Amino acid sequence: MKEEGVELIREGKRLDGRGFDELRPIKIEVGVLKRADGSCYFELGDNKVIAAVYGPREMHPRHAQDAKMAVLKYRYNMAPFSVEDRKRPGPDRRSVEISKISREALEPVILKEYYPKTEIDVYVEILQSDAGTRTAGINAASVALADAGIPMRDLVSSVAVGKIDGEVVLDLNAVEDNNGEADMPIAMIVRRNIITALQMDGRMTREEFEKGLKLAMNACRQIYELQRTALIERYSEL
Ligand code: ADP
Repeated sequence: MKEEGVELIREGKRLDGRGFDELRPIKIEVGVLKRADGSCYFELGDNKVIAAVYGPREMHPRHAQDAKMAVLKYRYNMAPFSVEDRKRPGPDRRSVEISKISREALEPVILKEYYPKTEIDVYVEILQSDAGTRTAGINAASVALADAGIPMRDLVSSVAVGKIDGEVVLDLNAVEDNNGEADMPIAMIVRRNIITALQMDGRMTREEFEKGLKLAMNACRQIYELQRTALIERYSEL
């Protein structure tokens, strides 16, 4: 809910000094966890996220196996200390919804048919949150899946756009998200121009939606390059 009198844009700049089309700083580290098959640490401004991937491994219980392909599982979890007031530990409606949309965002790139009867487990832990955690999680998971050597058609990149003080802006932080008019996270396969997830909270006009989509697609291109570079750097080190 918007607090009375909160001004989010001043002299053409946002409260954190960003322009309307600017991403928060991004940092990506690949292979940060020893026990996972693949992992990634991802920072987007004040969001800090870790993704760990296990598998493909035999799926239990057996009756849940798919004889033709691997089953992708995705668990998004917010640490109790990741938000301003302590979050009650454990799954809730929000984390179940985010897990589902994130899994669906990644599924189209994974060659699941290579590994029948197996499961691929993706765990995303939010260590610190400042809005956009689902998009940071998808970016981290995509890199962690590649790090695990899971055969993929390409990476998936994700970012949110929204509307604050009547302006369409890229990558909302928590103050903007809480006091803004709309928030629209998207995920896409950049090199194929395919959108694999799109949600909208709040309202935008058709023109605003189109403007926002363009902003988000451009930003996904930037994120894709960072993801790719992080993976190349990791494997050229070895
Ligand atoms: P996203 O993090 O993907 O933008 P939301 O729009 O649901 O997802 O949440 C926006 C932000 O609100 C989160 O990043 C987090 O900072 C805050 N938030 C979400 N859930 C809680 C919670 N249970 N307690 C406190 N803050 C929360």
